[in-house]
Amino acid sequence: MQRYSVFAVAREAFRHHKGWERAWASPEPRRKYDVLIIGAGGHGLATAYHLGKNHGLKHVAVLEKGWLGGGNTGRNTTIIRSNYLQDPSAAIYEKARSLYETMSQDLNYNVMFSPRGVMMLAQTEHEVRGYKRTAHANSLQDVETEFISPERVKELCPIIEIRGPRYPVLGALWQARGGTARHDAVAWGYARACSAMGMDIIQNCAVTAVRSEGGRVTGVETTRGQIACGKLGIVVAGHSGVLADMAGFRLPIESVALQALVSEPIKPCMDVVVMANTVHGYMSQSDKGEMVIGGGADGYNNYTQRGSFHHIEETVRALVETFPMISRLKMLRQWGGIVDMTGDRSPILSKTPLEGCFINCGWGTGGFKAIPGSGWGMAELIAKGSSPLTEEFGLNRFREGRFIDESVAAGVAH
Ligand SMILES: Cc1cc2nc3c(=O)[nH]c(=O)nc-3n(C[C@H](O)[C@H](O)[C@H](O)COP(=O)(O)OP(=O)(O)OC[C@H]3O[C@@H](n4cnc5c(N)ncnc54)[C@H](O)[C@@H]3O)c2cc1C
Repeated sequence: MQRYSVFAVAREAFRHHKGWERAWASPEPRRKYDVLIIGAGGHGLATAYHLGKNHGLKHVAVLEKGWLGGGNTGRNTTIIRSNYLQDPSAAIYEKARSLYETMSQDLNYNVMFSPRGVMMLAQTEHEVRGYKRTAHANSLQDVETEFISPERVKELCPIIEIRGPRYPVLGALWQARGGTARHDAVAWGYARACSAMGMDIIQNCAVTAVRSEGGRVTGVETTRGQIACGKLGIVVAGHSGVLADMAGFRLPIESVALQALVSEPIKPCMDVVVMANTVHGYMSQSDKGEMVIGGGADGYNNYTQRGSFHHIEETVRALVETFPMISRLKMLRQWGGIVDMTGDRSPILSKTPLEGCFINCGWGTGGFKAIPGSGWGMAELIAKGSSPLTEEFGLNRFREGRFIDESVAAGVAH
């Protein structure tokens, strides 16, 4: 793999940037792989990367029906934090956050991780109690967070109106090492590293059927022919139910459209990420200067990748209460993604009833932040049959009633 460095940039500047190689190869699919991963979003690619890096499994292909990161990975608002309430969640999200810290160096690809700090505003007494409880839980889990005063909120983010009008800011749960990263770069960086290890990233290749024999997976049918495999990982977010159906089992998942929007670019005015869950909106400023705004999820199941229009108005109205200055901004564009929601708002990383077939889904509205930790755990699960990171996130928890209830931490906040 051609290494990226300041010297490489300088060298290419002298030869009119004619020496750059393609970042990843686009091979034809082979007839058989040890492991096939369906879905080239962040989670699928990170799984493949850690299969190679941590477990030496390199005869791996990632199959993608569209383009790299074209699903939710390239559509989210890029918030990274690990201040969840339950122990299994804190473990996997904090593993992920810590891997983000060194991801650019590990992948030799600038993912623009920006640990600028994330605050979740408490705007009701109930939220104050909830976030204080989370801060206490986090200190037991070795996750650095604190509950801060309204004055500190104003100091960290001067454009917030802390006095109301409807909901005054009563404090916030603050994670100083939370932040953002460039989402496409995360997918591209993993794809490049996988390709460099000899793995095949195959785009425009939709899986149309899962093949099995005697209760064990044997391969898949795709729009580019049949491909056999020893093991199969299904990592397709909003389409998990569709793929599970092909593999012959059902999932406790609902797919809904979740949307986001960005404003016209303005001068830097906010260097933290703010989530206001009571009025329901969250915002950060991109490096280009656009205000990146997260909206709501549709109230009904669908696969539209667009989202209902009334959410745009509701989200902007909610945020204008907290950030009056955005009332003067023009909105530039809006988009949606299909998110995979479980009842307890926690993910599923699990073996399935089909032997050799594994599933990673249910990240819902908040899985971007989990990508490296999820890839680490999922790879271990596929390679060894179990992983401490994924143990609690198995499918059997729904049968046994062992829910990992994160609906407060992850409801539709990211
Ligand atoms: C608007 C929005 C805002 C969000 N904001 C945040 C945030 O701020 N922070 C955060 O942590 N998370 C956020 N999320 C959630 C996050 O984006 C997702 O949880 C995460 O990206 C899921 O990654 P993935 O790799 O599982 O899925 P995806 O990136 O969706 O990848 C799945 C891939 O599978 C492919 N696929 C589907 N079916 C097939 C098939 N039959 N054959 C082959 N390939 C197939 C799809 O084309 C897709 O590329 C947000 C999501 C949305 C939509």
